[in-house]
Amino acid sequence: MFVENSQSNKDICKQNCGTCPSYCGGGRKLLFCSKGNINGSVEMKGCKCGMCPVAVAHKLDGAYFCVHGNLDTLID
Ligand code: SF4
Ligand code: SF4
Repeated sequence: MFVENSQSNKDICKQNCGTCPSYCGGGRKLLFCSKGNINGSVEMKGCKCGMCPVAVAHKLDGAYFCVHGNLDTLID
């Protein structure tokens, strides 16, 4: 399901991506399930997307959206 690039979703993402051991967005890049993957390499040390309320509300499958982006958002 398409994920809106909204402030409320960003705030939720900040609590999840922002505290993830793999996060490398410098505190500014967020909401990879809406905006797509990050440019650059990500050291995959775990992903918190599965427990994120944005992922639950939008029925997102998968994880590591900072690596792979979100196909649902790209095709919606
Ligand atoms: S998308 Fe997943 S792996 Fe990447 S920073 Fe967010 S929670 Fe961590
Ligand atoms: S599903 Fe992952 S990328 Fe999307 S808001 Fe939640 S933690 Fe961030």
